[in-house]
Amino acid sequence: MKDLVTWGHPSNPAMRVAIISDIHANLPALEAVLLKADTLDISTIWCLGDIVGYGPYPNECVELVRARCSLVVSGNHDSGVVGGTPIDDFNEYGLQAILWTRKNLLPEHLEYLRTLPLVAVHDSCTLVHASPLDPPEWHYLHTMRAVLRNFQAFVTTQCFVGHTHVPLVVGEDGSIDDFTSSGRHIINVGSVGQPRDGNPASAFGIYDTDAMRYQLVRVPYAVDDVAKAIEHAGLPGHLARRLYHGS
Ligand code: ZN
Repeated sequence: MKDLVTWGHPSNPAMRVAIISDIHANLPALEAVLLKADTLDISTIWCLGDIVGYGPYPNECVELVRARCSLVVSGNHDSGVVGGTPIDDFNEYGLQAILWTRKNLLPEHLEYLRTLPLVAVHDSCTLVHASPLDPPEWHYLHTMRAVLRNFQAFVTTQCFVGHTHVPLVVGEDGSIDDFTSSGRHIINVGSVGQPRDGNPASAFGIYDTDAMRYQLVRVPYAVDDVAKAIEHAGLPGHLARRLYHGS
């Protein structure tokens, strides 16, 4: 696993980027998000990891991410599936899903997950799954103190993260969910496949690199379809039930 990849150049033309994270092998959610993104005049899609884990469609989701995303970083579940992160780090549901995913993921997709970097930088944007400070430790940015400490760990204007499955924008001045303020931000784009902010609709972000404007997008999808598939696959029923509540 590479630690860092760098793309882009300051002379690159402006882009509207869709940023997706925490798909967790939820194909109906990923398909709904991609359909929506295609209506929003985007130039490209970036993915912040956790393509797999928890859900029943790991092959389909890896295939779609490989086909549609120009930048992808590794998440703790992606890393856990390929042995990069110890399985003791996961709770019982995460662990069961990782073992199931290892058995069901095609070798070429396992190999792909192994190649994902922990951090990617594109011009003014840093992409990392959990936190720019010690990315392989997968710290949760749950508190303002933790978020503010992380501003010293990246040099770009914006840093996009996932991992908590809760959308949030924090400015370097401590402002919350206020992207009208100029300056640097840590932006959590929420989760495509397992939202945990009480809203079951998929979440993703749109960032305009020229106007430096950010927007959170929510997309309802067929929760029933993936819930049934989770049960059918023999994955824990809890992983299906939580999707109805976005919890
Ligand atoms: Zn996740």
